[in-house]
Amino acid sequence: MKRRISLIIILVINVMTFAVNANERGTNEGESTATDDVIFDDYFIDKTLRIDYIMAGDANNQNIYLSELKQQGRWAGRKSRLAEKFLNGNGQLTVRDHATHKVIYVWTFSTLFQEWLLENEAKTVGRAFEASYNIPFPKSAIDITVSLTDKHQKVMTEMTHTVKPNDILIRQIGDNGIPFYYVWKGGARTDGDGGTKENEPRHGKNRNYVYEEYDAMADVNLTDCIDLAIVAEGYTEAQMGKFYADCQRAVDALFAHEPFTSLKDKFNVVAVAAPSMDAGPSVPHKGAWKRGTSGAHYDTFYSDRYLMSQEMHRIYDLLSGVPFEHIMVLVNSNTYGGGGIYNQVTFSTSDHPTFKQVFVHEFGHSYAGLADEYAYDDQDSEWYPSDTEPWEPNVTTLKDFNSKWADMMPKKQPIPTPLDAGVPDFKKIDKNNKKDMTKLNAATQVVGVFEGAGYQTKGCYRPAQECRMKINEVENFCPVCTRAIRRITEFYTAK
Ligand SMILES: [Zn+2]
Repeated sequence: MKRRISLIIILVINVMTFAVNANERGTNEGESTATDDVIFDDYFIDKTLRIDYIMAGDANNQNIYLSELKQQGRWAGRKSRLAEKFLNGNGQLTVRDHATHKVIYVWTFSTLFQEWLLENEAKTVGRAFEASYNIPFPKSAIDITVSLTDKHQKVMTEMTHTVKPNDILIRQIGDNGIPFYYVWKGGARTDGDGGTKENEPRHGKNRNYVYEEYDAMADVNLTDCIDLAIVAEGYTEAQMGKFYADCQRAVDALFAHEPFTSLKDKFNVVAVAAPSMDAGPSVPHKGAWKRGTSGAHYDTFYSDRYLMSQEMHRIYDLLSGVPFEHIMVLVNSNTYGGGGIYNQVTFSTSDHPTFKQVFVHEFGHSYAGLADEYAYDDQDSEWYPSDTEPWEPNVTTLKDFNSKWADMMPKKQPIPTPLDAGVPDFKKIDKNNKKDMTKLNAATQVVGVFEGAGYQTKGCYRPAQECRMKINEVENFCPVCTRAIRRITEFYTAK
């Protein structure tokens, strides 16, 4: 298998790695797995149960092990549609009330472990990977089933364990002393424009931004907003001013793109200023190993631009004092790279010229489960088998196209849709040529079924000729990606 990154790069490969047939599993985007609504207060208290797992094995045999249970502060996740599965992902936590077996919470995700299983290395050696998940803290005993699925949506391994909320070995964690600062506060704020201007912390003595009396949590609406935490990697204590400024640029980039612009009131963004002992990233192919915060390094699976960490427990430890739902690790680096895992973590770099585009692209993967819409000419492995409709909302194998964007197709648009020869080639385009750039950007808004997506030139289709999930040269998401982001945001913020 090749992990070669050419156009947009960053591989959130595992977002697409295990394509699944949503229908085989009985649910599809937005469909409910529950027979009736679960009332949050009937089953949970306003705290977070963090569950640490080890996922281990090789290409032939996989196992999931419980590592540790932890209780931390307020629950930042959704409080409605608790038993619903929105996107399948490549794995799932299913939480059942122990007494009645009723499903009371579902969380889907992808893992680095499953991605690694497709590497040649997995044929010859077994390895262990960390995973961590947050669920609302239960009032009574619960049974948690963790399952991982293959690209045909078949369960490859599964384990179930019981959690009793009064278990004395659930470690109580909380404030870890790492300062944090909200770069953006959404929700029903009285000043009407969100942001943090009125309550901005002054520069502290050692921490640059945060000073002792500053209450970072003031006016934060956890319930109505999606909570994104940006964690510092490769920033020393003295560089925290830069970190906050970089976070601000990241958030500005995100909110400059629709549909995030119009959804920005539904997000909180908190910058977590975890200091590294050394500045900059670990770059193994240059022999550079730095003492950072998150275990991040380039060269994951020997792919030089694949910036990722296997140390999820450590990353969650950095966030023990912060309510969060989604994690972005911002790496202090000007080297191109990144990576993201659906509903687990995303890595992006701060100082590469394509910083903004990559950040938004990566967030599309990890937040909305969007697949890459580009293809490699010489890709020799099939990521999306033809007998299975991918779970990602923006690619299709045409196995079940009606579950995708069939309703958004213009009349008489052929399937597959031929490329519009009038759209300039992004590889040859002169960015200063306004006419060509206008044509290129316009191509993002024409919906069709274009062959070539998910790293495959054949058998996998994308919704637009160009899109933010395909190339860095265009600003906009295609209409199908835009709808997917809107829908998942509605799901997370439903009342
Ligand atoms: Zn798209």
